[in-house]
Amino acid sequence: MSLDQVLSRIDTDLDAAIDRLMTLLRIESISTDPAFKAECDKAADWLVADLQSMGVDAQKRATPGHPMVVGHVRGDGPHLLFYGHYDVQPVDPLNLWKTPPFDPRIEDTPNGKVIRGRGSSDDKGQLMTFVEACRAWTAVNGTLPCSITFFFEGEEESGSPSLIPFMKDNAAELTSDIALICDTSMVSPGVPSIASQLRGMLKDEFTIHGPRIDLHSGHYGGPGLNPLKEIARIVASFHDDTGRVAVDGFYDGVHEVPAEILRQWENSGFDEATYLSSVGYSRPHGEAGYSTLEQQWSRPTLEVNGLWGGYQGAGSKTVIPAEAHCKITCRLVGDMDPDDLRIKVRKHVEDRLSPDARVTWDNDLEGAPASVMNTDRPEFELARQALSDEWNREAVLVGMGGSIPIAGYFKTILGMDAMLIGFANDDDAIHSPNEKYDVQSFHKGIRSWARVLDALSR
Ligand SMILES: [Zn+2]
Repeated sequence: MSLDQVLSRIDTDLDAAIDRLMTLLRIESISTDPAFKAECDKAADWLVADLQSMGVDAQKRATPGHPMVVGHVRGDGPHLLFYGHYDVQPVDPLNLWKTPPFDPRIEDTPNGKVIRGRGSSDDKGQLMTFVEACRAWTAVNGTLPCSITFFFEGEEESGSPSLIPFMKDNAAELTSDIALICDTSMVSPGVPSIASQLRGMLKDEFTIHGPRIDLHSGHYGGPGLNPLKEIARIVASFHDDTGRVAVDGFYDGVHEVPAEILRQWENSGFDEATYLSSVGYSRPHGEAGYSTLEQQWSRPTLEVNGLWGGYQGAGSKTVIPAEAHCKITCRLVGDMDPDDLRIKVRKHVEDRLSPDARVTWDNDLEGAPASVMNTDRPEFELARQALSDEWNREAVLVGMGGSIPIAGYFKTILGMDAMLIGFANDDDAIHSPNEKYDVQSFHKGIRSWARVLDALSR
């Protein structure tokens, strides 16, 4: 067996691989809208048939929602699980699409050829990079280099309601040595990236109450306590002048980024100027002393998402309102504990209330800790080397400002570490009109997986 033969098979089969992806892209598998239930089913059927055609023991598995696709190939060596999702986001506003979302096509653009259509990047195109690598491997060698479990979900874009129960019910079948996930992007074009830390989330919402009723600002202005002034003062106290969160104990569980990882970030080709200027910023506004990437990936935040109260209609109203409201979210990193943090944030507010003010808390949603991948596992360095070979560029372990819950579920439910490798670009317009996937992402993505499989199976 030879990796070179697999890679050249991928090159010669590229047009056929694109045709297969186009077929999958024509299926309108919008998971959130019940009108497309049959289409989701059709996408699952198509994937089962495609896996079976390459010798995978694949099945469509029912859930209370859209079906899962699970397939196995038993072989020597390590046991890898690959996760992707076949459902897509809704397509509206439809009038902003330049071509029909489910009539995919290849387009020439100033940055090269792209595959245009809903799901081309998120996640059908990415999912198929792995499938095509396995197809080429099987075509050349008659089998795969290790045991592989394929695990495709059809509800990722609608909150994954069936995922946790399905994982729990099928834990023995799904548990493998490590999970591979292809649903992320590269830090900048052409820079292969392994996402190794994703921030967690805590949401809360509070109301500050003052007088029993809205008051006349002439009768009570002066002696009256104004909840809007109260909430403004407290919200302003969340951060100090250096951008650091001033809540006592907020940074418990936050770790500094190791020097080697910081070096990779500095060499990642991240275009800070474009990232900032594209939304109208001239500089980063987070914690002083940390780079823009650190502020986005490895530092926690406390963000005010909504702040309101009092009279908001036309004209003016001379009122001291009875209530003022605030919605906040925190992004969590490292070992920060969302339950503990909720107590600290609430204490910060309660400790600062004036006499006659009181606070009520309106949101008891569960928080999610950060997902920090176990990059000490040898698979990370092996994959990093394989990706560097394919892209002729050092692959980097990157962070992500947002959350991908699936990585955490593999850990908490199945006890498995996960490795997130994706080939999307930031301009792919995922979830937006005119979604695309670069042909280069697809082609080199397939080649990348062939190299990763080779590296991990040795
Ligand atoms: Zn996705």
